[in-house]
Amino acid sequence: MKVISFVTIIIILSFFFLHNESFAQSEGKYTIVIHGGAGYISPEISQEIKKAYLSSLKVALKLGKQILSEGGTSLDAVEQVVKFFENDSLFNAGKGAVFTSTGWHELDASIMNGIDLSTGAVAGVKKIKNPISLARLVMEKTPHVLFAGEGADNLGKKFGVGIVENNYFDIHRRYQQWKLKQQEEVKGTVGCVAIDFYGNIAAATSTGGLTGKWPGRVGDSPLINAGTYADNNTCGVSGTGQGELFIRLTVAYNVSALMKYKNYSLEEAAKEIVFNVLPEGSGGIIAVDKDGNYALPFNTASMLRGVANSEGIFEVAIWK
Ligand code: ASP
Repeated sequence: MKVISFVTIIIILSFFFLHNESFAQSEGKYTIVIHGGAGYISPEISQEIKKAYLSSLKVALKLGKQILSEGGTSLDAVEQVVKFFENDSLFNAGKGAVFTSTGWHELDASIMNGIDLSTGAVAGVKKIKNPISLARLVMEKTPHVLFAGEGADNLGKKFGVGIVENNYFDIHRRYQQWKLKQQEEVKGTVGCVAIDFYGNIAAATSTGGLTGKWPGRVGDSPLINAGTYADNNTCGVSGTGQGELFIRLTVAYNVSALMKYKNYSLEEAAKEIVFNVLPEGSGGIIAVDKDGNYALPFNTASMLRGVANSEGIFEVAIWK
């Protein structure tokens, strides 16, 4: 009897310490960063458009902040924030996805869980209303990591996610054409990275890709290590910019690698990749590290972005 109660006490104590240790990392803290694409938004844009961008960023950030402050997971926060952006035609993801050279929309998305490096992604989907949610299902409900094209659309049907005709994404067309004529280029890919109360980091990215891309072209956003990465031991990253360069330079993973192998701080690692590895004018990243620090460097004229944390920071911005 005595032996049993001794063992029970040891088990209870070790649970308490283990639990406490994982909480000790973040002690109820959280940080969330978002982006709505790097590019060249002219500072001359109308007040109306500027307001629309800033207000969408604020709503997205508020949504993520609420999930995290109520003890929700970073995985739920990044999925919900990206889903919100996908449903907002201002951004080049989901509903606002750009046109390929042949007048279609082909969408890419990925999500990664820093707890165990599990990840899911979809590329070139044409009928999935919210590609980020299908990416999460790929991660959680299949033995695979990346589904592409028709197979990915069919998987969406199988899982019962929202299916739309490709012209659902056309709603943005006039606005986009108008914008291209009157404003400088706006890329508008979206991403979110967060660390939750429990010290878990997640990252998510979603895009329609580059305007006029060749049919079948896949960018960095659905490629883990290039456009998205998350590891609880280092950081989470979501990128936006010229996808071909992000793929060739393994952008997202390299931020984590500099921290892991060279002991760089998050800020040093993020700046090194964005300012010394990526060519000027090619894009930016948002990142959060295991201690809740954040970095939002970009080497373009603008990057729609935002950050919120448990210390009361709540900021959105477009230019430097
Ligand atoms: N990185 C995306 C792509 O190349 C585009 C972007 O971020 O704007 O597909």
